[in-house]
Amino acid sequence: MHTNKLAPLLLILPIALTLLLLAASSQTVTAAEIITTSTDPTPLPDPLENPLPLTAVDPQSSWRAPLYPVPWALTEHDHFFFQRPVTVDNVNWPLPSYRYGGVFFAPDVPHTGVDIVVPEGTPVLAIGDGQVIWSGTGLLFGDNDEEDPYGIAVAIKHDFGWENKPLFSLYAHLSETKVEKGDYVKTGDLIALSGNTGFSTAPHLHLEIRMETNNYYQTYNPELWLAPSQGNGVVVGKLTDGAGEMLLKQEVILENQQTLEEFRGKTYGSIFTVNGDPFYQENFALSDIPAGLYKVRIPYFGYMYELLVRVQPGAVTYFRYRGLMGFSDFQPYNPRPENLPEGQ
Ligand SMILES: [Zn+2]
Repeated sequence: MHTNKLAPLLLILPIALTLLLLAASSQTVTAAEIITTSTDPTPLPDPLENPLPLTAVDPQSSWRAPLYPVPWALTEHDHFFFQRPVTVDNVNWPLPSYRYGGVFFAPDVPHTGVDIVVPEGTPVLAIGDGQVIWSGTGLLFGDNDEEDPYGIAVAIKHDFGWENKPLFSLYAHLSETKVEKGDYVKTGDLIALSGNTGFSTAPHLHLEIRMETNNYYQTYNPELWLAPSQGNGVVVGKLTDGAGEMLLKQEVILENQQTLEEFRGKTYGSIFTVNGDPFYQENFALSDIPAGLYKVRIPYFGYMYELLVRVQPGAVTYFRYRGLMGFSDFQPYNPRPENLPEGQ
């Protein structure tokens, strides 16, 4: 008697499992369909892939998904080795309009890091394990120079490197440091409070990644080193003219083919004091791009060049553009599907 009453209940479980599996498999099929119908510029939103109404999401929200655990690398070329210097309940991503390689003052003084807009006094955390090699003013000019453009700064030499070269992280415009030169710190340790010291017009944290030597000329784009937030990828490009010369300040638009949301950026504005990644040799990078199908759009000499790419979660999506010759379809750098995070 009990058995009979239980029987329908017991049936529910397999049915529920089947429904779950069906839902999962239909999601996969839908994703594949998007690729094949990608010529349609306004595909309908897929309710399975985006359970939240994306149009209602405020892009300025101070919440984003947690980061992937570090070190995070889906291919041998990636090196997302660092956590972010600010906790996820604050704005902890680079200011889009003030990225690495941007030229905002003299052409030979490009921006050598990224800026994270946080109120004065925000805890600044070590982005990786290592030893403090600088704490205080005078990082660039020396001798505790109060005019130093970095203001109060902390530099860490990390316990790990890349291709046998040591890595350094640098935190500038601080209001006060919480560490001394020589201290060993762990990832996430409080090292300073953010501020507005040095050459800074508003409270923010300036973060640099340096490789090989702790030197102003040895910076690399932090967007290729900071762990992406979950579900997001990094779009990286090398844009040259037909002769192979780097295109400076070239506008690039990423258009999400589901939401039609646009992400805009520019190539590095200078070839002085900015460096491309040892492998990618990029002059363009945008991190924190939600995974999905995108059109890379490049306005160049009166034409709009377009390339369809799929941004994979936690991964670098690479493209190569060569002026009037257009995009190269050579795309060897995408991770194998089995390496991608589950459920994405
Ligand atoms: Zn800065």
